Amino acid sequence: MATAADFVEDPGGRVPVAGIADLLVVGGGPAGIAAAVAGARNGLSVTLVERYPYLGGLASGGMVLVLDDMCNGAEISVRGICIELINRLERLGLAVTPPAADRRSDRAMWRKWSRWGVFDFTSRDKPQPINYSAAFDPDGFKRVANELVAEAKVTVRLHSWFSRAIVEGGRIGGVICESKEGRHAVLGSVVVDATGDLDVAASAGAPFVVGSYMVTTVFRLGGIDTMEAERFEYEEPDAFKVLDREAKRILGGSWDKWWLQTPLPGVVWCNCPHMSDYDGLKVADLTRADFEGRKRIVALHEFARAKMPGFGDCFILDVAPQLGIRQTRLLEGIYVVTKEDVVQRRYFQDAVARGRDYYYPYRAMLPRGVAQLLVAGRHYSATSAAQRISREIPPCMAMGQAAGVAAALALEGGVAVGEVEVKALQRRLRAQGADPGDRPASNACIAEAAA
Ligand SMILES: Cc1cc2nc3c(=O)[nH]c(=O)nc-3n(C[C@H](O)[C@H](O)[C@H](O)COP(=O)(O)OP(=O)(O)OC[C@H]3O[C@@H](n4cnc5c(N)ncnc54)[C@H](O)[C@@H]3O)c2cc1C
Repeated sequence: MATAADFVEDPGGRVPVAGIADLLVVGGGPAGIAAAVAGARNGLSVTLVERYPYLGGLASGGMVLVLDDMCNGAEISVRGICIELINRLERLGLAVTPPAADRRSDRAMWRKWSRWGVFDFTSRDKPQPINYSAAFDPDGFKRVANELVAEAKVTVRLHSWFSRAIVEGGRIGGVICESKEGRHAVLGSVVVDATGDLDVAASAGAPFVVGSYMVTTVFRLGGIDTMEAERFEYEEPDAFKVLDREAKRILGGSWDKWWLQTPLPGVVWCNCPHMSDYDGLKVADLTRADFEGRKRIVALHEFARAKMPGFGDCFILDVAPQLGIRQTRLLEGIYVVTKEDVVQRRYFQDAVARGRDYYYPYRAMLPRGVAQLLVAGRHYSATSAAQRISREIPPCMAMGQAAGVAAALALEGGVAVGEVEVKALQRRLRAQGADPGDRPASNACIAEAAA
């Protein structure tokens, strides 16, 4: 309940305060969910604000269906809330992961698992090794996300579009959202920007760069005989190659395996068509991408139904409600992670999260010039080239978890988020099942010269 003030003054007039929390998380995607749950489990009152009518961000609304980039060889390098979520999905039959015995590089395992997308996509081995990753159902992700935030007693406000940061004297104190009820303010002692597009930090005046990458209109096809489709691929490879090449030409941009299995029988996930030269921050571009993507999907569907074994009865089950935007604004924080840092697996003394084998320093979540704001997720402080290879869902969740715990430590200690003692943050994360990583023993890793 608003107590100190029931209204905030805004250039557009007085705005009613709809909530006050210790921690305000803006954006209910993977990073935001993890930040909110971690903050609440560490004793904070938490409000989570999301523009859409569901949680999950690109993982659910963008129908991005493989939780990956979370293994360093055989070691599972992203743990914590992400693993809890996968375990819950698996128990519901809404995620599929390869068992430990199948996680290796050999032809039989490739044939068994590669159409699930659960392989190390960064490996140069042929075939690429099957590893721990999870193909999941997007509605299942929403369901489990709801369970996690409800159990942690997070106050969730869906249908609320962030529109402006409330900043006074260089310190963020909350945000203003647009909704069916009109404008309202939500206040927080610490704010986490988990919008993926850096909406909050940009509005608060933090420095950023604008990156770009291809966008994708993800869709699913139902009514597929996946056994027949795979038989054709492996037993008639020449004929398969001809049809597969034509399908990719129609799509006009896709990964090599343009369709993948899902936990739902007869339903495949198509992470395509990829399209270039669209700006994920521009209404006209977002609109154009929807029209162009759907046109290509319809053409692909007609071709697949007419020509591809296993696809004869297929139908378009759905097109993701959210356009697949990979990169827009990127924070220029206290430290900017480079491609070399990621590729060379540079260890940072202030590492608070990991991807497959690379590290996220706490400084890459701290904006310059705005106090009490943390940034977690795909818009973290990185160069465009670095973000392209370090933005998958599990590491974004690891960053989110670190942000939630950092907020708790700051408020417990009565210090600013930029002054949190990083060793204490790392210890707390480990104690709570997350894995910020230890200084690695491998020679390939470059130990940072100075903290
Ligand atoms: C086509 C595609 C395929 C991908 N494939 C994979 C894959 O197979 N595996 C994988 O791990 N990763 C994949 N990724 C990457 C991954 O989906 C994202 O990097 C990840 O979801 C980032 O999580 P996030 O929480 O930082 O951001 P997002 O998932 O973008 O979540 C941001 C949240 O903030 C909300 N939000 C944004 N603006 C506002 C606002 N103004 N007001 C209120 N709420 C707001 C959004 O609605 C959303 O819920 C893919 C991405 C794309 C686009």
